[in-house]
Amino acid sequence: MSEYVIETAKGKWEVIVGLEIHCQIISKSKIFSGASTEFGDNPNENVSFVDAGMPGMLPTLNRWCVHQAVKTGLGLNAKINKYSEFSRKNYFYADLPSGYQITQFRYPIVGEGKIRIDLPDGSNKDIGIERMHIEQDAGKSIHDLSPTKSYIDLNRAGVGLMEIVTKPDFRAPEEAGAFLRKLRSILRYLETCDGNMDEGSMRCDVNVSVRPYGSNELRTRCEMKNVNSVKFVMQAIENEAKRHVEVYENGGDIIQETRQFDPTTGQTKVMRKKEFAHDYRYFPEPDLPPLVLDDAYIESIKQEMVELPDAKKTRFINELGLTAYDASVICENKEVADFFEKASAGHDAKKVANWLIGDFFAMLNKRKLSIKESPVSAENLGNLVELISKSVISGKIAKDVFEIMSETGDSPEKIVEEKGLRQVTDVSAIEAIVDKIIAENPDNVAAYKKGKTNLAGWFVGQTMKMSQGKANPAMVNELVKQKLDK
Ligand code: MN
Repeated sequence: MSEYVIETAKGKWEVIVGLEIHCQIISKSKIFSGASTEFGDNPNENVSFVDAGMPGMLPTLNRWCVHQAVKTGLGLNAKINKYSEFSRKNYFYADLPSGYQITQFRYPIVGEGKIRIDLPDGSNKDIGIERMHIEQDAGKSIHDLSPTKSYIDLNRAGVGLMEIVTKPDFRAPEEAGAFLRKLRSILRYLETCDGNMDEGSMRCDVNVSVRPYGSNELRTRCEMKNVNSVKFVMQAIENEAKRHVEVYENGGDIIQETRQFDPTTGQTKVMRKKEFAHDYRYFPEPDLPPLVLDDAYIESIKQEMVELPDAKKTRFINELGLTAYDASVICENKEVADFFEKASAGHDAKKVANWLIGDFFAMLNKRKLSIKESPVSAENLGNLVELISKSVISGKIAKDVFEIMSETGDSPEKIVEEKGLRQVTDVSAIEAIVDKIIAENPDNVAAYKKGKTNLAGWFVGQTMKMSQGKANPAMVNELVKQKLDK
């Protein structure tokens, strides 16, 4: 991929980015209580005494959340730590009734790993994972319902989170975008997080610094909290990096601070400076013992791992002959990949991929449908491609058949029979049409014979038209040439 360099009249700069992503764990109940995690329920409907921070309540670790974290660690190609600990991170905020967050600090459940990202030019890059720990989410403060009051909804308080911290390996906004898309895809394959950034179940903190191009120094970084879409993350990096360059080139210095990205302006503004940074006073959580896992447990989770997007992509390229691009597009979403596998079984996989990425996606888009709601089933899409491969219909007629399939949900075979769209491959039938057109257009025949050979196309067009598009185009071409050249 081409390098991302910020170039000004004064010099060249490169950008250094690291990400921290909070991912809500898919689990029916919260990480330290039995309350429901359902999104969108009435405010404060799903709050246990533990979540409300009542004195004397004791947290109990949710076994399923641990399972999900280990599975995610394996999906990140990361080391699973058999020993991990919980700590208290102390701070005061209205949506954190206990006054501290239970998290993992010194000993996280998952250690170093890596994710391979797919860049737009078809190249790849490995991004290092520093660690992943599990912790509880805070509640939500709602400030925009009343001019004089703030409201607190504790439904989210205590929902399990996985916090993934990357190494500062990103050198371009595009790389961070590709990483988030890949991470989301992996989490969805694993079914450990739904990855919905707009609902807040995946939230990204972005750390940005710049340095003179080619140098090795690490300059002061700024952090943007809770950026909630892939597009905004890329925008935040671009604009924050430009701000740093401007400050440095004007003789200033960047101060370490937490900033907020404003989606309406695309700019970042200061939230809090370092001198007001929290001192969290971490200490080991006295109400929870260390978390100790054994090999058999980790092995049992390995056994239930599904094929992940990278492995699937490689298989589609090597075994089904797809291009890297088509395989990437199809494998990003597991439902699409499953649909494709079903559709291509026994048929020309490359052609099925073309139809899927082309006409099929366009149809879903136009009708605002998800793949699950598709009126065209995987089997029917495969069968349509088969009809083209077997020359039962032409590619052009297939487009019309597909249109009807997406309206009625009928099988292509049924539509072809009912509408009489079967391609004419009977030589004598086509020959009769060609003869008729030649007989009726002596002027064009004469012109052709005098050297206007591109008139052959006109004869082909007339024949196709008269056959209502059903004549086999290759046979028409052949016959027209034969007869005109006679
Ligand atoms: Mn955190």
